Amino acid sequence: MNMTELIKQTPLVADMAGCNELFWVNPKVKRPVPKEEIVNIDEAEARLLRFAPFIAKVYPEVLEGIIESPLSEIPEMKDALAMDTGGVLQLADIPGRLFLKCDSHLPVSGSVKARGGIYEVLKFAEEVAVENGLLTTEDDYSKLADPEFRQLFSRYSVAVGSTGNLGLSIGIMSARLGFQVTVHMSADARQWKKDLLRTKGVTVKEYPDDYEAAVAQGRREAQADPRCHFVDDENSLDLFAGYAVAGKRLKAQMDAMDITIDEQHRLYVYLPCGVGGAPGGVTYGIREYFGENAWCFFAEPTHAPCMMLALATGMGNRIAVKDIGIDGITEADGLAVGRASALVAKAMESRLDGCFTVDDGRLYPYLAMLQDTEDLFIEPSACAGFAGLACVANGIGEVPVPDENSIHIVWATGGSMVPEEEKEEYYRKGCRKLGFI
Ligand SMILES: *Cc1c(COP(=O)(O)O)cnc(C)c1O
Repeated sequence: MNMTELIKQTPLVADMAGCNELFWVNPKVKRPVPKEEIVNIDEAEARLLRFAPFIAKVYPEVLEGIIESPLSEIPEMKDALAMDTGGVLQLADIPGRLFLKCDSHLPVSGSVKARGGIYEVLKFAEEVAVENGLLTTEDDYSKLADPEFRQLFSRYSVAVGSTGNLGLSIGIMSARLGFQVTVHMSADARQWKKDLLRTKGVTVKEYPDDYEAAVAQGRREAQADPRCHFVDDENSLDLFAGYAVAGKRLKAQMDAMDITIDEQHRLYVYLPCGVGGAPGGVTYGIREYFGENAWCFFAEPTHAPCMMLALATGMGNRIAVKDIGIDGITEADGLAVGRASALVAKAMESRLDGCFTVDDGRLYPYLAMLQDTEDLFIEPSACAGFAGLACVANGIGEVPVPDENSIHIVWATGGSMVPEEEKEEYYRKGCRKLGFI
């Protein structure tokens, strides 16, 4: 389809091609949630519980061996968002309570990828160990730290293509278990992520090209080797299941905090989106556990709105941002993806409430504001969710306007592993934009 036809069919494409900030409300979203099961969340959660003794043994800092993050209320940030920044940020006077889901501070690998990525590696390890007769699912999994398992796993390998954080999660956990591991990194991946992986004994291959090329090369190399497990960020149901567990955990976490979600107390969630796996899995889990009282939105850079493009045109992964003349280049490295996952686009068609785009120029001001108000650091990509608050607060499309009973969760997807000098640099950049210095 050429641009003229495309715009005729989906007028929004013209605005996307102009890299404008947009908010698209999904007309196909279903309430109540479709019954069709994509992954079994209970089964995934049970597997993570089996591995808890192993995680607790090799990462004593992980409480009870469960890799989970705090849900923090951020009232000072909420107040700051309602202040005039001279147009640097949209003024968001948000009815209800504002929370940050701190996946930025998930233990072991410091990003949302610790959910899906680590889950997939653990599942592979379990399969290999069971197949080789060294493990049954009734065993105490702390024995996976024993030398005989490292020796077994060293005969297998794991490979992945990544913009950075998925590579970190897969690389760190695979290397810890004893697998040989190769991470294919795209050009936009940060140097410190490559360096960190190399110190853990991970083979890092770099590509001058974008993320799609890194994934394709990784897939090709892995296919040639029957003992190699390729973590397919674009198609993996295991990743999706690992992310989806977040919905169940969030429900338990909110119950423990006495936060009720029902018809009178609506939940609004804002999730940064790259290829779609992480926010898609989390959204699937949230809609399973909060049903029709949850509204989920994806945040994407104006230069890489692959999921908005996939869903608004209905073309899924048959269209990429380059097809509409956008470069896919963004400072939000975790979101620098030009083509959405087909699996996730399909799953979100009936489950996601909408997508919005954010200009790179707003990410650092949010970052600095969060640091100043709540003493929390999150990486630029992870700040994208904040940009959706203003539109939702003001009322958008068919989405019910939030009120004082509403709960808003901005999903912070990464940040705690960023080196100090880079944190400082990002923070100063944000302060400069806000006119603080
Ligand atoms: C990977 C990542 C995302 C998005 O996840 P996808 O599965 O690529 O959609 C968002 N934020 C950060 C920091 C990430 O690393």
